[in-house]
Amino acid sequence: MTAGGCALCARAGALATTGRGWLLRTVHWGVSTHPALPVPGWVAVQTLRHTEGLAELSRSEAAELGPLLSRVSAAVTQVTGSPRVYTYSLGEGCPHTHILAGPPQGGLRGKAFIAALLDRDETLADQPAADRTAVRLAEELSGPTPR
Ligand SMILES: [Zn+2]
Repeated sequence: MTAGGCALCARAGALATTGRGWLLRTVHWGVSTHPALPVPGWVAVQTLRHTEGLAELSRSEAAELGPLLSRVSAAVTQVTGSPRVYTYSLGEGCPHTHILAGPPQGGLRGKAFIAALLDRDETLADQPAADRTAVRLAEELSGPTPR
């Protein structure tokens, strides 16, 4: 796949022009709401350039990722109150490097929650709550970088 046919490259372009914007943008990474389902507190952390997996990251992209995932995870906990923040990356729906992160909810945990999320279970979706949570996440992520 090339960047031209990539849904997450297209999303990056759209976020830059629609005013919705990134929740956080670093030198090499962008953080936005879950691209497929408005589940409160769920975000996607993606490379700004088209890459297809962690093995393709530059040294500087890789160096940013660990601290960024830690920061995003802390912000999700701060905003949602969930001490548990799941992270995963499959690359099956779209090969562009992205890590999804967010809290379990809907009374589901572990495999049951992830299966529901991957199945795009609409009972997990709540657009107004996802929008409110996204605003608070952006505020939390705009603060000083924690140690
Ligand atoms: Zn891409």
